[in-house]
Amino acid sequence: ATMPPLLSAIANAGRHGVLVKSAVVMERLGQIDAVALDKTGTLTEGTPRVTDIRPLPASGLDEDALLTLASAAEHPSEHPLARAVVDAARTRGLAIPLVTDFASAPGIGVTATVEGKAVAVGSPARLLNGREEHPAAGLAAELERAGRTAVLIEVNGAPAGVLGIADRLRDEAAAAVTELAALTGAPPVLVTGDNIRAATRLAEEAGIGDVRAGLLPQDKVAAVREMARAGRKVLMVGDGVNDAPALAAAHTGIAMGRAGSDLALETADAVVVRDEPATIPAVVALSRRARRLVV
Ligand code: ADP
Ligand code: MG
Repeated sequence: ATMPPLLSAIANAGRHGVLVKSAVVMERLGQIDAVALDKTGTLTEGTPRVTDIRPLPASGLDEDALLTLASAAEHPSEHPLARAVVDAARTRGLAIPLVTDFASAPGIGVTATVEGKAVAVGSPARLLNGREEHPAAGLAAELERAGRTAVLIEVNGAPAGVLGIADRLRDEAAAAVTELAALTGAPPVLVTGDNIRAATRLAEEAGIGDVRAGLLPQDKVAAVREMARAGRKVLMVGDGVNDAPALAAAHTGIAMGRAGSDLALETADAVVVRDEPATIPAVVALSRRARRLVV
């Protein structure tokens, strides 16, 4: 027997390294005419490295002490930035203390109790909200202008220092952006929780002109809905817990398999198994061919 076109398209997508969860999804992929892309872990490799460790003089901490507190608070987190912080501490041979009261806020950061101290690690803009004059804000802005993602460390409510973290654009991310623009007739939009300075720099490298930065998970949903208001069928591609609501709200959601959090993989309609961005336009094209055969 010959396989129905949508089923052979699913098998074909699988050979390209894209796991499409159903025939309905395979069909919907061919309908998309707008694309929203997450940054960290989606366009970038999601294996960022700590490049700068800047304790504030007033904190009384040195680089190792700052990194020890930050890595302890980040240790339970699955966020790519958290892994970068933990790796940096291990590389320096630091012992990472166990924590209690760990909590994470998607798109903002983490909090935990480390050796009796309340430690918060996360977005400088979110944590310093209302304290923009603090020296930590200037330090963060300086790192962001250099294209870094800046992460603030607070100890007992007081800013103690900033880490600079750098991530690489994935191979073929720029090519995938160009192909998606050609397929849909609309340039892809970058939707990220990161700061506008680092986001704009990376977007330029990827060939994206439309950047929405500093977004919380619900802001990513709003961005997807706004794109859909023009009657467009939006494909959202993401990897994080913070992307899950937008993956669900989009016409079709695709998650990155390796970088992806469990929640993103469960929520998405399809998964790019080996995280290769070039497979996304390939699967959209496959779906369109299959749809032509069905109709
Ligand atoms: P993106 O949308 O680019 O994938 P996220 O929404 O996951 O990024 O994160 C947005 C911002 O929130 C980060 O740039 C960082 O400032 C902060 N953040 C989120 N989670 C963490 C964490 N575990 N450690 C440090 N910072 C975090
Ligand atoms: Mg992400």
